[in-house]
Amino acid sequence: MIDSHGRTILDLRISITDRCNFRCVYCMEPDVRFQPADRLLTPTEIVRMAGIAEGLGVRKIRITGGEPTLHPELEAIIAGIRSTTRVEIAMITNGSLLTRHALAQWKRAGLGRVTISIDSVRADRFARVTRSTATPDDVLAGIDACLAEGLTPLKLNAVLVRGVNDDEAVDLAKLARRFGVEMRFIEYMPLDSAHAWDRTLMVPAAETRAAIEQKFALLPTGADDAHSTARTYRFADGAPGTVGFIAPVSSPFCGACSRLRLTADGFVRPCLFSTTEWGLLPLLRNGASDADIERFLIDVTWTKLSGHQISSPTFTQPARPMSAVGG
Ligand code: SAM
Ligand code: SF4
Repeated sequence: MIDSHGRTILDLRISITDRCNFRCVYCMEPDVRFQPADRLLTPTEIVRMAGIAEGLGVRKIRITGGEPTLHPELEAIIAGIRSTTRVEIAMITNGSLLTRHALAQWKRAGLGRVTISIDSVRADRFARVTRSTATPDDVLAGIDACLAEGLTPLKLNAVLVRGVNDDEAVDLAKLARRFGVEMRFIEYMPLDSAHAWDRTLMVPAAETRAAIEQKFALLPTGADDAHSTARTYRFADGAPGTVGFIAPVSSPFCGACSRLRLTADGFVRPCLFSTTEWGLLPLLRNGASDADIERFLIDVTWTKLSGHQISSPTFTQPARPMSAVGG
């Protein structure tokens, strides 16, 4: 699948549920309403879409949400994708529900890699950011469990919000050193369901990097590939782990975008910031052939805009938040 700007789609992100046990301040409002179950893609539909996407050149599928570990049929979804495709299967999770037993089952089913989000290592702060009853220790235990099950290389994600957790860059970077993993800082994007995003709340990647460099000198890893969203650095003192900076707002990387997104309720989105999305359920539920769906995906890909224009005065925040569009 090639878009009208010459970019090839290699990476499909599938949101398997819009539900979540967290209500992160930068993502989901406490009174969010979820879609009725019959409007969500079924495991069979998800697996079918994975196979069709692979036939069109997709090489990696990232399972996301909402919180994917809440899906009662997560293992069957992974196993279904594994048995019908050869794509790399990755998952992103808030890490609060990871047990070694569950991870071992998902790995056996075909899960290759995991990314875990962690925005604070302080219990009070974690509660304030996630508005959940989970603790940083739950997530740290999840990190340990992933490493113990060999789900590596493991990546961690954090979103810093000014005045909320922007003083934790160094403490979060220390997780990279402690666990020997990549700790990535993602700029806060205008994708929160409260539409409260404001540029002043976003901590630019350069500022986060400077804060970390006050404590630890960093050197570029030189290992970032052309489609990678993150610029990665290693520690100059030779400590294990790396830090990555994902700067969609201060330094957009749309020119190298290789992604397409499928929402939990069956819409294809060419971009996180698309204000137009394309409904698949009528096709999936009314007998469309694989060839019909292939044509549909090719047409949607062609509509991918060259960039997200967050910095333009005419930028319009998409109606649906990150949790609905599959981050
Ligand atoms: N619930 C899982 C989790 O939190 O990892 C998976 C879904 S979540 C929508 C995927 C990623 O999107 C997380 O790393 C989260 O921090 C990030 N995210 C959510 N809202 C965001 C926003 N407004 N700006 C930047 N990143 C955001
Ligand atoms: Fe849930 Fe992930 Fe959104 Fe937090 S970022 S509310 S964990 S979907």
